[in-house]
Amino acid sequence: MQLDFSPEDEEFRTAARTWLAGNVPQQTSPHEGQAARDYATDWLARCHRDGWAGIAWPADYGGRGLSPERLVIWYEEYVRARAPSVLDCTFVALNHAGPTLIACGTDEQKAFHLPRIVSGRSIWCQGFSEPNSGSDLASLSTSAVIDGDVLVVNGQKIWSSYADIADFQELLIRTDSTSKRHKGLSWVICDMKAPGITVRPIENMAGVCHFAEVFYDDVRIPLSNVVGDLNDGWRVAMTTLGFERKTAAMGLQLDLSVRIEDLIARADAAPGSATAERLGLLRAQAAALRAMTWRTLFREPATVFDGSLVRLRFAELAQHIHRLAMDILGPDALLMSQPTHDYLEAYSETIAGGTAEIQRNIIAERILGLPRE
Ligand SMILES: Cc1cc2nc3c(=O)[nH]c(=O)nc-3n(C[C@H](O)[C@H](O)[C@H](O)COP(=O)(O)OP(=O)(O)OC[C@H]3O[C@@H](n4cnc5c(N)ncnc54)[C@H](O)[C@@H]3O)c2cc1C
Repeated sequence: MQLDFSPEDEEFRTAARTWLAGNVPQQTSPHEGQAARDYATDWLARCHRDGWAGIAWPADYGGRGLSPERLVIWYEEYVRARAPSVLDCTFVALNHAGPTLIACGTDEQKAFHLPRIVSGRSIWCQGFSEPNSGSDLASLSTSAVIDGDVLVVNGQKIWSSYADIADFQELLIRTDSTSKRHKGLSWVICDMKAPGITVRPIENMAGVCHFAEVFYDDVRIPLSNVVGDLNDGWRVAMTTLGFERKTAAMGLQLDLSVRIEDLIARADAAPGSATAERLGLLRAQAAALRAMTWRTLFREPATVFDGSLVRLRFAELAQHIHRLAMDILGPDALLMSQPTHDYLEAYSETIAGGTAEIQRNIIAERILGLPRE
């Protein structure tokens, strides 16, 4: 793997750094609701206006059409500049719904949705998990029957992040009632304003409502909103999960290196040896995660399962770093809302996008070739 940058890459890095220095908002983002949406979409619209959104997206659909390497350079500069967290309400649209449409959508779907996503004009959420189908996604039961040229959907999803403020949802449903498990599912674009949809926000332990239950009561979705073929939704969903686990969190992964440097700066001039040891270990682990992030771009042949390695490492490292931040800040942390919020939110890292146990199963079975459970 070659990690030397060309003069053109360095020019790109300098341009990104300069633009970020003059444009990163001073105020932090609200955590939820319409205010969070306005903040995130304003920021994305500003990035897009100046050519800093959709770095690796096709130019025909509003992106820059640059290499994945340039995308990582952008993220490295982005986190260095302490720009707004990439894990906001634009995350699903930009990082897995959009890439799924690029990979599997029709020309019409791409032409309509991608320019809206990349410019902050539409927010997406994900409707995969159900009350009885999370890790075992293939057991899902939200279903649709075909009525002319529409699907009529009934059922319930849960944990759908930002569903309360989203315009569209990547919705995985059973479209063949005789089917079992992976067969007979479809991945459809659901308009969140369609009649029959009820969204009920759920508060997490950090006191924030950024995910929700979604109920579907005879919701009519045009058949033209199916992405991929009807009853071929499992393949499309695996494409989505591939992005979600592999490239979507790139900005978050790189952000951990910055967090560790901030903590080192914050620790006492002579931290206790136990704290110094933890800081050193976590700094090394953050550097290893950065190397893994780069490696996922170049590994040939790439597999959807590589993402599990990175996702798992990221999730556990994030928890350790936020825990250490609380220890270093001591009781003062309770007076500072952001570190406490980040610490509490980090608990969900080993659940969202597939739990740590599921990632370990995938690594064991699909990468190491161990016997299936
Ligand atoms: C912050 C956050 C955001 C989320 N956002 C979304 C979203 O936008 N859209 C969406 O669709 N979903 C979302 N989810 C849901 C997430 O994908 C599920 O929570 C996750 O897949 C686990 O499913 P579950 O909660 O049903 O747990 P379960 O599958 O019921 O698992 C319960 C426990 O059993 C363990 N377990 C289950 N099966 C096995 C096994 N085979 N081997 C070993 N252990 C096992 C799990 O690891 C876990 O510890 C989000 C979750 C969180 C925390």
